[in-house]
Amino acid sequence: MGQVITYRPPLNQSKNYDVAIIGAGFSGLWSAYHLKQLQPALKIAIFEKEYVGFGASGRNGGWASAEYPTSSKRLIKEHGVESYKALREEITKSIDEIGQIAKQNNWQIDYAKGGSLVFARNRAQLSRISIDLDDEHTFLNKSQTQDLINIPTALGAVFTPHCAALNPFALARSLGKYLEGIGVDIYEKSAVTRILENKLEVNGYEISAPISIRATEAFTPRSWMGNRQIPIYSLMVATEPLPANVIAQIRNAQRATFQEACHLITYAQITGDNRLAIGGRGVRYKLFSRLSERSEIDNRMHSALERRAKSWFPQISDVKFEYRWGGAVALTRRWQAYLNFDRTSGRAEIGGYVGDGVTLSYLVAKTLAKRITNVKTKNLPFIDQKIGRWEPEPIRYLAVNAGFKATVAADFEEKLTTRASILASIVDPLINR
Ligand SMILES: Cc1cc2nc3c(=O)[nH]c(=O)nc-3n(C[C@H](O)[C@H](O)[C@H](O)COP(=O)(O)OP(=O)(O)OC[C@H]3O[C@@H](n4cnc5c(N)ncnc54)[C@H](O)[C@@H]3O)c2cc1C
Repeated sequence: MGQVITYRPPLNQSKNYDVAIIGAGFSGLWSAYHLKQLQPALKIAIFEKEYVGFGASGRNGGWASAEYPTSSKRLIKEHGVESYKALREEITKSIDEIGQIAKQNNWQIDYAKGGSLVFARNRAQLSRISIDLDDEHTFLNKSQTQDLINIPTALGAVFTPHCAALNPFALARSLGKYLEGIGVDIYEKSAVTRILENKLEVNGYEISAPISIRATEAFTPRSWMGNRQIPIYSLMVATEPLPANVIAQIRNAQRATFQEACHLITYAQITGDNRLAIGGRGVRYKLFSRLSERSEIDNRMHSALERRAKSWFPQISDVKFEYRWGGAVALTRRWQAYLNFDRTSGRAEIGGYVGDGVTLSYLVAKTLAKRITNVKTKNLPFIDQKIGRWEPEPIRYLAVNAGFKATVAADFEEKLTTRASILASIVDPLINR
């Protein structure tokens, strides 16, 4: 929010490395971090077309959660219960590891492991959140919910301890600085234009490296990934720092992250500097998966987020919203996160986290580093994924945007009728999560 960026120098000559990483978001940065942990002598470079933290990693809602894009039911069906359990164990552990690494290195990232809350504001939402309770989630009644976060219209909530709130841009920048300190070269304004066997083309120079990692998520050009993923925009707003009396009224001293149990995803946190930051999806998908800076600012959507925040907290009716921004995440056809590494060609690709990449990118990058250095890994569901293709255009455009419209309509239906949406029961199976 409002940071002044000083760029690192771009690549200006051909060079040799052991590992070349494309993209300086969490995926690329954590890959370098874990590779260096396992083999400190590796010569590693990261090439970033803008600056460290330019992508989703520097702009997200700061939920280091244990959420995963694919539904638990499908994970168990397709990967087996052991793989599912291994994922749950590793992803929950990763949240703590991020906090520990930040603490050890004195990174100022406003990390607070206060858990996360999904609250209901109508009966349909309440019955939906009450169904899927497991040993990671507990139900809170109305007064327990309001004791934690004072949302006067909340009827109840589901709470998990497995989430930390953090400042994502500070994390990306701290990681970048740390990596340079341990000998990783980071080049900014250095777009990779071609990936060849054991070589990359960057700013017109040649990088020779037996291993390359593509960590470009939603920014991956179609020439590299075809129709295997699409970019989806998520938007955010943040208030001015809330006055102490408003913070006291909202409660939430532990900084639990929170969201309403709508069909259209929302997510919020009280930041380390006492702002309310809230985000949500719903921006129209662009034909042929085009990325566009214009999609990052959508007055209608941003205003809707501000209204939603005020409907949760009447306490902030006079508070100003200071920032509006947005960014893109990658969505594969079957909501699969992926880690693909071909030892023969030396090429790796990681991504597909949708809106759950803060913790997941850490785990995927750590697992990739182990595979590259021949350390045994658990059988996790994102390893060696065959990613299906999206439907051709314009079917994809029509289907994705119809999905968004149906999701908004399902929330409206539930608000009106207070019963579970009939529309959602038709659309949910088609979403293929
Ligand atoms: C608004 C918003 C809110 C979100 N909220 C949350 C949240 O609260 N919790 C959560 O878990 N997840 C959240 N996410 C998702 C999360 O931020 C991402 O999943 C995660 O940051 C992806 O990290 P990444 O490193 O894979 O990709 P990115 O951070 O997008 O990094 C990719 C990088 O690659 C660079 N690049 C692209 N092409 C090239 C090239 N040719 N050469 C060199 N560099 C290139 C880009 O410039 C970019 O810096 C949110 C995302 C958004 C947009």
